[in-house]
Amino acid sequence: MSYSQLDDVILKLTDEVTVKVLNILLEEREIIDEDIVNILNKDTEQESDKTEPSDEGDIVRIALKEVRKSLYKLNERSLARYRRVRDKETGYFVYYWSPIWERIRDLIVSRRKQTIKKLKQRLDYEQRNLLYVCEEGHTPVTFSDAFEFGFLCTVCGQELAQKENEETISVLQSKISELEKILKTGLEEIEGIEEKMEKAANS
Ligand SMILES: [Zn+2]
Repeated sequence: MSYSQLDDVILKLTDEVTVKVLNILLEEREIIDEDIVNILNKDTEQESDKTEPSDEGDIVRIALKEVRKSLYKLNERSLARYRRVRDKETGYFVYYWSPIWERIRDLIVSRRKQTIKKLKQRLDYEQRNLLYVCEEGHTPVTFSDAFEFGFLCTVCGQELAQKENEETISVLQSKISELEKILKTGLEEIEGIEEKMEKAANS
């Protein structure tokens, strides 16, 4: 099981193992690192069973050390927290990890909004500024720059002509509407996870 929106965002910030670890935290709500390792390795074994019968040696097992590194990464970003309990028998501390849902949600939403904002600024620029470019397509410049250069390319000296940027504009527009749709379904997905977590907490 995985949440696509979450995976995209977390993967950009961390790595694949951390994405898997976070998904397990969301599913289990509170879990110790060793159990995360067991779940991850069980999944890996099942996956390798599906592909082809292989030697035990072919299966890449995820080590406890690696999972702990991921947990620290999540903790550093305030996406996961732990509760420390001393084991009465061994005297060692046991760490119970859980996700910090509000932070995860805010991160996903703000990342998406940031990307959309950047694209809108670019679109705005394209719509506002007609660009001038030579036949070779060297660095496109704005009208005032083209005017200053006497409508000649600063690279090759050829005449500058108005560049058709309708295509760029339509590409940007469709990218923005696509991302806005993703953000919307992302929010629905997030609400779904939230509901599920609340239900689990109340049961
Ligand atoms: Zn040129």
